[in-house]
Amino acid sequence: MKREEMLARVRERSSIWDFLVIGGGATGLGIAVDAASRGHSVLLVERDDFAKGTSSRSTKLIHGGVRYLQQGNVALVIEALKERGRLRRNAPHLVHDLAFVVPSYAWWESPFYGIGLKLYDLLAGEYGFGASSHLDIEQVIAAIPNIETKGLLGGSRYFDGQFDDARLAIALAQTAAEQGATLINYCGAVALRKQGGQVRGAMLRDAESGEEFEVAARVVVNAAGPFCDEVRRLDDLLAQPLIVPSRGTHLVLPHDFLPGDVAIMVPHTDDDRVIFVIPWQGRVLVGTTDIAVLQATTEPIPQVEEIEFLLATANRYLARDATPQDILAVFAGIRPLVSRVGTVTASLSREHVLLIDPVSGLLTVAGGKWTTYRRMAEDAVNVAQTLGNLPEKSCRTENLAIVAAGESAPSAPLHPVLPITPNQVLRACREEMARRVEDVLARRSRCLLLDAAAAIAVAPQVARLMAAELGRDESWERREVIDFTALAAGYGVTGVS
Ligand SMILES: Cc1cc2nc3c(=O)[nH]c(=O)nc-3n(C[C@H](O)[C@H](O)[C@H](O)COP(=O)(O)OP(=O)(O)OC[C@H]3O[C@@H](n4cnc5c(N)ncnc54)[C@H](O)[C@@H]3O)c2cc1C
Repeated sequence: MKREEMLARVRERSSIWDFLVIGGGATGLGIAVDAASRGHSVLLVERDDFAKGTSSRSTKLIHGGVRYLQQGNVALVIEALKERGRLRRNAPHLVHDLAFVVPSYAWWESPFYGIGLKLYDLLAGEYGFGASSHLDIEQVIAAIPNIETKGLLGGSRYFDGQFDDARLAIALAQTAAEQGATLINYCGAVALRKQGGQVRGAMLRDAESGEEFEVAARVVVNAAGPFCDEVRRLDDLLAQPLIVPSRGTHLVLPHDFLPGDVAIMVPHTDDDRVIFVIPWQGRVLVGTTDIAVLQATTEPIPQVEEIEFLLATANRYLARDATPQDILAVFAGIRPLVSRVGTVTASLSREHVLLIDPVSGLLTVAGGKWTTYRRMAEDAVNVAQTLGNLPEKSCRTENLAIVAAGESAPSAPLHPVLPITPNQVLRACREEMARRVEDVLARRSRCLLLDAAAAIAVAPQVARLMAAELGRDESWERREVIDFTALAAGYGVTGVS
């Protein structure tokens, strides 16, 4: 993928696009893959970097959702389990099985969770990842050496999927491009264009050059996730909010708090939710919280109380407790939860909705989760074909392989504790449309999330390599390091004692 080539396609195009997709997270990228693979012409624009929003800030699980089972929402679990199986088949390089243990400290927990997890196995059917089983105390300790043994009675083990969310987003962008889609990061929709009251295009602004483009499309899809109400207000200033934003925070600890490759599932927190303690990329991910916020922001800031809550909850299950000084990074994302109020035209599952504005025809696709992005996209493109009077073509993504990143030639890591090499930086610029130091350190690699302080230390080297590759000058390099350092400071921990 080359950004200049993508921009040139937009400048040179004289005919109308079939699809204009606004937003380059899981939802928009999934729609671009689906529509392009059906043979439609697709332009996707992302105002920041691909997956800058919620889609790089998830708990990184491809899961049926054990908690929906607790709530009795069987249909949703079946749909997600099916998608989990399909995604592992279509992207085996990005999704792998992960074993979870639900430790029990009360007599009723093992039989209770054991039965629920058997049902989970049953619902997965042919898409199953492995049978759940009861573990005795020794087996729990063998799986999770740092488990709190005081009062431990045993546990239940089950399997779900784990992935790298930002890497899957980039792979989807590459898959869409391979299917003929045009995708541009750092290019936002700043206004919508109408014909006879119908939305038929948009004004786009290239954030790098300031250049503006007017593009026409048969269908405009608003896939702006937690920001989709901003886009809806470009259409109708008085649009009632669809999204009820909520912040979910994670913290990252060193590997030795969870040695081994088995995760802990905490089935019941003090605020009545589940949290996970998960091995991830040589670190331990703990999350998440669920805090209502007034407005979605691009860089949500985790609050001290959330970090304390996550530490306290995880420590109940860990023999050696983690302290604030052990935290390597914290990060938060905004859930695009959909409110039930409003004129939802087609509510396809409890988790995602398609909303067609009755006057303008703007199609908004919101809610859902990473696990079900493909199904959301299929539903959206089915509706969009009718809406845009496009030929009705069938979905092809059930078995469509997702592109694997090319191997970069081996080179020595830039930093002893970070998985990033000079060749990976160059590949990110050449093949993955990385434009800024943050793109490389936060989303092409996950260095920022793995160790915020180390990521700051490596930023000047990354900026130097990128400047040479992208033809930038020294002042660009300096600005990038300053910007990245300011951003990464928000991923460190301050004020928690
Ligand atoms: C804390 C947390 C944990 C989660 N964990 C999981 C999990 O483990 N498994 C799972 O399956 N799901 C999980 N989810 C859910 C999942 O991450 C989201 O459902 C999904 O990422 C939403 O993707 P999206 O594309 O709709 O939104 P986003 O990823 O936010 O994408 C929307 C994009 O639109 C762009 N945009 C906004 N306005 C414009 C404009 N005017 N022009 C162009 N672009 C624009 C934004 O910059 C943004 O990049 C989690 C969510 C949260 C918050």
